[in-house]
Amino acid sequence: MSIVEDGAAVAVLPDIARTRHVPAPRGPREPLKVSVYERMSKSNAQLMPIFPYDGAGVMVPCGAMLYGGEDRFHGHFFHWNTVSELLVAWGSNEAMIPTGSLMATQPFHGVNSFLRDEKKDGAFALVTITQRQSAEAGQREALTAKCEKCRQDLVKFEYASAPEGTPDYDPNAFGDETDVFPQFSTQWGSQEFVKARNSDEVRTCKNCGHENYWFDQNVWGWDRLYNQTKVSNAAYHALATSAKEVLG
Ligand SMILES: [Zn+2]
Repeated sequence: MSIVEDGAAVAVLPDIARTRHVPAPRGPREPLKVSVYERMSKSNAQLMPIFPYDGAGVMVPCGAMLYGGEDRFHGHFFHWNTVSELLVAWGSNEAMIPTGSLMATQPFHGVNSFLRDEKKDGAFALVTITQRQSAEAGQREALTAKCEKCRQDLVKFEYASAPEGTPDYDPNAFGDETDVFPQFSTQWGSQEFVKARNSDEVRTCKNCGHENYWFDQNVWGWDRLYNQTKVSNAAYHALATSAKEVLG
């Protein structure tokens, strides 16, 4: 036990030296607190990082909000990741993932709407998928599309996704090294995957000749998040340049 004198008051505190504690925050990664429900109500993409930190060793919770409707179509693809992912369902209705459930995904896993019927109004799933960034070299990811008829690979888009702070990090891999707000590697990779996936050449299966559906990225929003991150960086630099001109 320790005795701490604070003016006239004397407080008796437990000895915390022997207990584990979180180190004090440092400038580059200040503690932030958000409500996943509030944040996701204004999200612009699936797998949107809900905190602005994704460097080496960091846990990155990403939100996804999927819902059904007459015109909703999510398609299907496969995701492969060298780092672990943990899914938490913060609320769902008529979904494959019950409210409150936790799921550790396999390194190679299928992704779709997770709804029993994506055409049904009122079906939804609000989830986070948290990935733990590697602190070492070699973090990689891939997205794969398979033929809906014969299950052969149509395209596999694989890329290095080394986070900032790892030996193989490339500051120009997903955005530009002058970016103040870095692109999240999975968002870059996903919208690149869709570009390849939707070409006429790829959509036509080389094994069975089946012409596969056009993958609608609108419900996923990866290009939206990627482009908005680009614009945010450009806007920041525009103001900095303007300020330099005006203020000298
Ligand atoms: Zn096929």
